[in-house]
Amino acid sequence: MEVFEKWESEIRGYSRMWPTVFTSASNARQVDESGRSYIDFFAGAGVLNFGHNNDRMKRAVIAFLEADGVVHSLDMATTAKRDFLEGFAEKILGPRGMAMRMQFMGPTGSNAVEAALKLARRVTGRRDVVAFTHGFHGMTLGSLALTANDYFRAAAGVPLEHVVRLPFETAPGGGMRALDDYRALLADSSSGLVPPAAFVVETIQAEGGVNVASGEWLRAVQQLARDVDALFVIDDIQVGCGRTGSYFSFDGMDLDPDIVCLAKGIGGFGTPLAMNLVKPEHDARWSPGEHTGTFRGQGLSFVAGREALTYFDDDAFMARVRARGEVMAEALGAIVRDAAGRGFEVRGRGMIQALDLGDGALAKAVTTACFEAGLLVCPCGTGGRVLKLIPPLTIPDDDLTEGLEILASAVRATA
Ligand code: PMP
Repeated sequence: MEVFEKWESEIRGYSRMWPTVFTSASNARQVDESGRSYIDFFAGAGVLNFGHNNDRMKRAVIAFLEADGVVHSLDMATTAKRDFLEGFAEKILGPRGMAMRMQFMGPTGSNAVEAALKLARRVTGRRDVVAFTHGFHGMTLGSLALTANDYFRAAAGVPLEHVVRLPFETAPGGGMRALDDYRALLADSSSGLVPPAAFVVETIQAEGGVNVASGEWLRAVQQLARDVDALFVIDDIQVGCGRTGSYFSFDGMDLDPDIVCLAKGIGGFGTPLAMNLVKPEHDARWSPGEHTGTFRGQGLSFVAGREALTYFDDDAFMARVRARGEVMAEALGAIVRDAAGRGFEVRGRGMIQALDLGDGALAKAVTTACFEAGLLVCPCGTGGRVLKLIPPLTIPDDDLTEGLEILASAVRATA
């Protein structure tokens, strides 16, 4: 298509996977210029947990604008900001007994990760940070240093420093042993290793291929961080905010992180917002105004994000997410059984589920077949061989069923 050739030469950033021009979107559907409707199993890479143009959020934002609410406020206090903070404290932190301070970090997940790195260095006076193979934490220099993907890191032109990379639990060489070996090396001065400022981990590596860590391993990472006086940081940017069937992906795992990075879904329906939850003793290490940013006070994001919190007023919404996650896992399990002997695999928790096809070219062909049949689904993981399914949590049952059927047919026709 001509428009894509133009965009390629001029902005180098268009989506090659879905070569069409979209005009409108509602809940789990996007419509293109020709009037064709697509089911969205991508949901803005985990941003649109509550669907495109979520009605509650749309109405709240329109009312806010009509009342001339403060849209841009930097660090000033506004009622929209206060309502969001109070709502988050009351509905999310309070019931969990989490005494965390909330720090707004700007619009993007990378902003939150950068701030966590900076604060961990300030608190510990140390430079290095531990991150894990197959992790994804962002594209800015600090967050990119933590990101494991070579292709993305190569864009920086020179090696990025100050990261010790350990194997994620499910990766080759991963598990308890790797943590113990690192602990032993730190204790042996002849290794030359210095203790890190922080360990930064995703409980489920979303971009890395939907690799699911166990609570036991995550607790061991936390313990190691404590033992060497480093901070334990959970990046819940993609799998937090209800995605796994509980607000935080680590709920119920007996974990007590020093910092939790949140973004994507917390801003509501694509209205950008990033926030770190920080233990008060660490938060106190920054004086007011020491870490600032122009876009940390986006009024529309506070309004939409406040509406998002109402989904967690009772457990019904999360119970529905867990039930739909099972529907997704069963449908993917059936695809794997149909293709017995091909070595396909299903992974996930709640409404982040994945089909590992073991082959990037095959995953790309299935993605294209899905697109042609009206389903948006995105490959991720090593060599792009994993299809990651992250529909809006609010997806109607009919759309979920139809999307899963399209995927099954696409795999049958392609594999
Ligand atoms: N952390 C995780 C776990 C992510 O999935 C992402 C985005 N895919 C980021 C950080 C970076 O967020 P952003 O693109 O908003 O900077």
